[in-house]
Amino acid sequence: MTFTLAIVGRPNVGKSTLFNRLVGKRLALVDNQPGVTRDLREGEARLGEMRFTVIDTAGLEDATDDSLEGRMRRLTERAVEMADACLFLIDARAGVLPTDEIFADILRKKNAHVILAANKAEGKAGEAGMIEAWGLGLGEPIALSAEHGEGMGDLAAALAPVA
Ligand code: GDP
Ligand code: MG
Repeated sequence: MTFTLAIVGRPNVGKSTLFNRLVGKRLALVDNQPGVTRDLREGEARLGEMRFTVIDTAGLEDATDDSLEGRMRRLTERAVEMADACLFLIDARAGVLPTDEIFADILRKKNAHVILAANKAEGKAGEAGMIEAWGLGLGEPIALSAEHGEGMGDLAAALAPVA
């Protein structure tokens, strides 16, 4: 049995960095070609012994401010509907921002199976953000560093019940 995991969260938290690490190919860069617009990217992820489909929600980074919220909401809802579980990323260094709360609400309303992770948690700079993450009411946050590959064992453990 395989499953589909959607990586969701506001721009710049590290979704594509994690996607690239899980998929092992720089698929995300493909969409940076001029004229290519694809808001959801799919790849085959490997994490330890696990194999699953992963979806990266992109296409928010270049949205203008007035279109951002609607676009973000539609895109995230689509990803949630396609997925068995959602990995909700926040930035441990930035802490919980109002935009993160909007994502948390979308996920709650959709009744998604949510795994919360605070990315950029390498070193001490992410410690306060980890504590703030509890305040989202989505359970225990996983400390991740997509860039440095830290926390991948904890991520695998959190995904085991989904698999
Ligand atoms: P996205 O907009 O959510 O897809 O975020 P990106 O994957 O494009 O990453 C946004 C920025 O955060 C980039 O400059 C990344 O290099 C950086 N980043 C991603 N993961 C980490 C991490 O684990 N630690 C740190 N310090 N920076 C990271
Ligand atoms: Mg991205």
